[in-house]
Amino acid sequence: MKKGKLLIISGFSGVGKGTVVKYILDNYSDYKISISATTRSPREGEVDGTHYHFLTTEKFEDMIKNNQLLEYANYVGNYYGTPRDFVEKNINEGNNVILEIETQGALQVKKMMPEAVMIFVLPPNADTLKERLVGRQTETMEVINKRLSKAAEETGVIDKYDYFVINDEIADCAACINDIVTDNNPELIGS
Ligand code: 5GP
Repeated sequence: MKKGKLLIISGFSGVGKGTVVKYILDNYSDYKISISATTRSPREGEVDGTHYHFLTTEKFEDMIKNNQLLEYANYVGNYYGTPRDFVEKNINEGNNVILEIETQGALQVKKMMPEAVMIFVLPPNADTLKERLVGRQTETMEVINKRLSKAAEETGVIDKYDYFVINDEIADCAACINDIVTDNNPELIGS
């Protein structure tokens, strides 16, 4: 059976990458999302096992010790990591697996699996990030400012990504990502 592709999607906090990923899952076939483990607290409306596996630090550290994570990173004070089994099983079954992860984890995965396709989602302009982070009302100003500083830090590694896509219109951004994955991308900029 033909193996699926591993797709790494990163982007600054507030860029709307979660919405783009959801659009891909709802509108294109053969994609699966890897549900990450995290020690951060659930936001209102987030469901354990659907949005994340919400774990204690102790349980997360057990997963690290037992080599159950493909990668993990600390992001603004919390652990985030990708459970290994789901990814390996689905790729072997021919599904394209999406990892929506930050840059440190993305680089770890690319080192182990150079065939992974790395895509960085950019906002249409600089003001959009803060507007979206404030507008969604899920974080305090302190956390928003930490996330914006993190975004500035992350710009240092985005040249390691294979593709940049701009999230202005969600459907267009999702189509662009699907074109990259299906190799239907003559006009896109890649490295
Ligand atoms: P949030 O708290 O906004 O849901 O996620 C914060 C950051 O952690 C985002 O950049 C998100 O892509 C990233 N993230 C989510 N899951 C994982 C994961 O499994 N591993 C890594 N390295 N980053 C993750």
